[in-house]
Amino acid sequence: MNKQEYMETAEHTILHTYNRFPLVLEKGEGVYLYDTDGKKYLDFAAGIAVCGLGYNHPEYTAAIHAQVDKLTHTSNLFYNTAAGSAAAKLEQVSGMDRVFFTNSGAEAIEGALKIAKKYGLTKVGSPDYEIIAMHHSFHGRTIGALSVTGNPHYQEDFQPLLPGIRFAEYNNLDSVKTLINEKTCAILLEGVQGEGGIYPPTEEFITGIRKLCDEHELLMIMDEIQCGMGRTGYMFSYQKYAIEPDVVAVAKALGGGLPVGAFLCKEAAANLVPGDHGSTYGGNPLVCAGAEAVLDIFAKEQIVENAREVGGYLYEQLDALVEEYEIVTAHRGIGLMQGLVVSVPPASIINKALEKGLIIISAGSDVLRFVPPLIITREHVDEMIAILRECLEA
Ligand SMILES: *Cc1c(COP(=O)(O)O)cnc(C)c1O
Repeated sequence: MNKQEYMETAEHTILHTYNRFPLVLEKGEGVYLYDTDGKKYLDFAAGIAVCGLGYNHPEYTAAIHAQVDKLTHTSNLFYNTAAGSAAAKLEQVSGMDRVFFTNSGAEAIEGALKIAKKYGLTKVGSPDYEIIAMHHSFHGRTIGALSVTGNPHYQEDFQPLLPGIRFAEYNNLDSVKTLINEKTCAILLEGVQGEGGIYPPTEEFITGIRKLCDEHELLMIMDEIQCGMGRTGYMFSYQKYAIEPDVVAVAKALGGGLPVGAFLCKEAAANLVPGDHGSTYGGNPLVCAGAEAVLDIFAKEQIVENAREVGGYLYEQLDALVEEYEIVTAHRGIGLMQGLVVSVPPASIINKALEKGLIIISAGSDVLRFVPPLIITREHVDEMIAILRECLEA
């Protein structure tokens, strides 16, 4: 098949929920992707903040190959050799005590919500407990995750959703305080708002939420699906503020490209027991071998330190563009999770960049998002900025 045929086949078969860019990707190497025409792209999207180790990382690929040859699936009725050790390593880097592996980010949020619901039922003594989430948040597309996603546009056609969800303003502690009452059982927030437009929190906000949760005996649930796994220059974004949530949702970069997520919790919040939750695939040997390799390579190659270092450099380079170009109106972000607010449709710049061999994506309606593989160097940043300048000038 040629490129046109691949695209047509997909358009005729796959449910049309995405407007895709006209690109058929075939392989990757390091931080570069290649399409079926052999055209090379510098990748500053990483499959939406997933491929932290880039593409075809030799040690990661070898670990998956080895597991494929041994065993890919067992179900959770049995132990396997990969899940326990991957969970132990995840606990060690997160400070959490318990792990439940899922197949996606949305499912990690569903699990976190189940912990919150069970906690709420016990704490409030009736099912009319409330959970506080944030406006402009994104937590996934399943019904539970959608219910806590503070974006009416995504929710509109799928009402009624979960009851008892109240929305506060991110980075506005007072707006959270006013929603707390005797029915409140949990506060859910992203460590950095991603899809909503790359909004990092203030330290005051994150530490303030922790304090409110302590004072009112609420579970603090952090969605680290996009901002976790080293992207902010910390393994998990909350580690910057030296606090610990009670429950953490992870996915995206955890599997380095294999579909695996997890919800993690402190022992005190580990209220789910046999019969309360399950997943046929969740934490199968294949994805856990991938996750374990990711965690091993992060430690060995100091991936988080690289994200912090190169992220600082990216910050300076992007910041300069706000002064220089009238259409670039603001810059936000931390580590290798940054955004430029633009006054033209982001797609116009993204399409130009694709022509010039650079992959970037958008967030919200007016933000260019930069979430590259965490292995990038300063030279890659320079290469990206040079292409981006050409696109902004055009
Ligand atoms: C991507 C994302 C999700 C949903 O993850 P899926 O794997 O797409 O279900 C949830 N929360 C945040 C912050 C995300 O970025």
